[in-house]
Amino acid sequence: MNKQDISNTKQLLSTSKKIVIVPHKNPDGDAIGSILGLYHYLLKSNHQVQVITPNDYPNFLKWIPGEQNILKHDSQTKKCDDIINDADIIFTLDFNALHRTGSMETVLEASKAIKIMIDHHQAPDDYATYIFSDVSMSSTCEMVYHFIDMLGDLNVIDINIATCLYVGIMTDTGSFRFSSTSSKTHRVIADLIDKGANNSEIHNNVYDTNSYKSLQLLGCALTNLKVIPESKTAYITLSQEELNRYDFKKGDTEGIVNYGLSLENIVLAAIFIEDKQEGIVKISLRSKGSFSVNDMSRTHFDGGGHINAAGGKSNLSLKDTVEKFISILPSYNKALNNE
Ligand code: 5GP
Ligand code: MN
Repeated sequence: MNKQDISNTKQLLSTSKKIVIVPHKNPDGDAIGSILGLYHYLLKSNHQVQVITPNDYPNFLKWIPGEQNILKHDSQTKKCDDIINDADIIFTLDFNALHRTGSMETVLEASKAIKIMIDHHQAPDDYATYIFSDVSMSSTCEMVYHFIDMLGDLNVIDINIATCLYVGIMTDTGSFRFSSTSSKTHRVIADLIDKGANNSEIHNNVYDTNSYKSLQLLGCALTNLKVIPESKTAYITLSQEELNRYDFKKGDTEGIVNYGLSLENIVLAAIFIEDKQEGIVKISLRSKGSFSVNDMSRTHFDGGGHINAAGGKSNLSLKDTVEKFISILPSYNKALNNE
């Protein structure tokens, strides 16, 4: 966003508007934290604001201030479409291409509203009127903080906004340890704590919500962990049958891929999760150093993300997806062994 864009946005938001805020499908902590942080901020500036997610999100996010006001497009499609069609401004947060909203793509594309993108993913599409994209940022939540700052409103940030933004910075940085965490990130976090975010309580609310079954599912995943030393790679599989056995709920597999990366001498970690309902295998990739899982996912798994964290999918069976993954690894051996 250049100076002119900032001044235009400021002008745009200087009178009351009908605003919709949308994150990507299967929203995570950063997606929900950023849309709700922005939601509270815009409400305080007297706008009419509605937050709409493409679908549901994990229970460990269902305590964040304002969460109960979110509409889900897949279960209330007509109501959501009417609100979108009537909007003056649509903020799209934590994604870089409209297809990342799944079935909301069509109605968003057709909307005449001014679109404002705030996002930190690589290679943003050009659908928005104003694009605030910064791939060096730890999280979209950190960017919403800077967005509020650019509008000269840091003093407007209250405990609700601070709590929402803290959630997404914490989850997208793996609790402030991924390389995207900068001193600037810590300064933002410090200010959010000063403004009322209760860091310890937020951590407990998000991370200490395991059920007995979800821990057993983690045990199953770790039992399935395989290592390919010559490619410095570890991968995990979870079949639909295993997910059913441990009473899988949305969010239960979040973060499991990182266990592969915690092994010594591992540069690339993957998890393959079978989803019989959607007829796909969902893939999460994580890496260390300069090995880009964004590139790997874009090239082979119809996905994308960041250098060290990306996602994708496969229409092959679970077994064939893993075979494909193993077959492409040798072409990356040089890069993987250089890390
Ligand atoms: P996760 O593995 O946790 O689902 O996603 C890791 C990162 O990759 C997130 O930043 C997420 O937004 C991005 N991502 C996940 N799935 C996809 C996908 O199918 N396409 C694209 N472009 N990005 C994805
Ligand atoms: Mn994010």
